[in-house]
Amino acid sequence: MNGTAGRGQSRARGARRALAVGLATVAAAVHGQTGPLSAPQRPGAASSPAVVAAPAAAAARLQLVWPAPHPGWKENQPPAQWLQHAGSGDPATGGFGGVRSGGAKFHEGIDIKPLARDRRGEPLDDVFAAMAGTVRHVSRAAGNSGYGRYVVVEHTGLAPAVYTLYAHLAKIAPEVRPGATVAAGQTLGTMGHSSGGYMIPTERSHLHFEIGLALTSNFEAWYARRRLGGRNEHGMWNGLNLLGVDPIAFFNAWRAGTVAEPVDFFRRLPAAVRVRVATLRTPDFVTRYPALLTKPKPFGVTGGWEVSFTWTGLPFAWTPLTPAEAAGLPPEKPVLVEVDAAVEKRERSKTLAVQRGGKWTAGKDLELVLQQLFGGP
Ligand SMILES: [Zn+2]
Repeated sequence: MNGTAGRGQSRARGARRALAVGLATVAAAVHGQTGPLSAPQRPGAASSPAVVAAPAAAAARLQLVWPAPHPGWKENQPPAQWLQHAGSGDPATGGFGGVRSGGAKFHEGIDIKPLARDRRGEPLDDVFAAMAGTVRHVSRAAGNSGYGRYVVVEHTGLAPAVYTLYAHLAKIAPEVRPGATVAAGQTLGTMGHSSGGYMIPTERSHLHFEIGLALTSNFEAWYARRRLGGRNEHGMWNGLNLLGVDPIAFFNAWRAGTVAEPVDFFRRLPAAVRVRVATLRTPDFVTRYPALLTKPKPFGVTGGWEVSFTWTGLPFAWTPLTPAEAAGLPPEKPVLVEVDAAVEKRERSKTLAVQRGGKWTAGKDLELVLQQLFGGP
């Protein structure tokens, strides 16, 4: 989750703060782009989307393109050489996870450095679609989100249909519009440092890149219910509704030949918390991402769900419960059946589980995700 939360791009800060920023940036939105953007024409710009040679097994199923011209990842350079730090000078802050504010603040994606700049220091790098898919959201007004100008592509042909997100762009290609299909490696726009609610200096220009899953297609209703104030300009592709995985881990696993479909990556994620919920509802999350089912939904009534979450709050494995299996559970009240206490202690940028009176209950970040998945206040 990211975007409206401003500089930290941290969902952990809570939606309330995000909206405070959101409100401030709605006014700034009028300063957004005012006309059709011309496609960048820059002879010699570093922009060839070289497709990385994939192992034969994976190549047939999934074509993956590194989303920016910097060759660092392809050439196995240490990430310190191609990740843009967030101001501290520590390149780890450009990576995924609890990498900001000494580990207290979460970063939903990775920040990739530009390779070429003009005389004023503005990046010239094109940004490429990492996989084939359909453009779902294009936010051309830089001030509308902490993401600045951003594009979301949904990879509908894949299981699960992950999204990728490209943020802080200087320009978005005019043909990149919601509903447009894009090929892997297609240019989406130009790298930049656009953002809403905070400033990214030119010298720290980068592509913020995410791969992940959207929590609910009913985000608008959730957003309205939370009374966060301000308008949601992004439909379900608001950063508060998006949960990323580590793009470097994803690309590395694919390069190693272990990812023929995204589900191969999700299946291997470690669980930090396992939750059981007795409910007759089937979250649209699992309807949209049936590849995350550990077994088929039984015929007839589903009594509830057992859901495994990564330490970042991503519900990556779903097991349907029969009414009999759900019988002992309190209705509509998630029960934590397993918690990796060491992980909970280690990862300070997310709070999934807290101990009260010797019992584990949902922490604020898990509460938020469960709300978005299953409804409720
Ligand atoms: Zn970022």
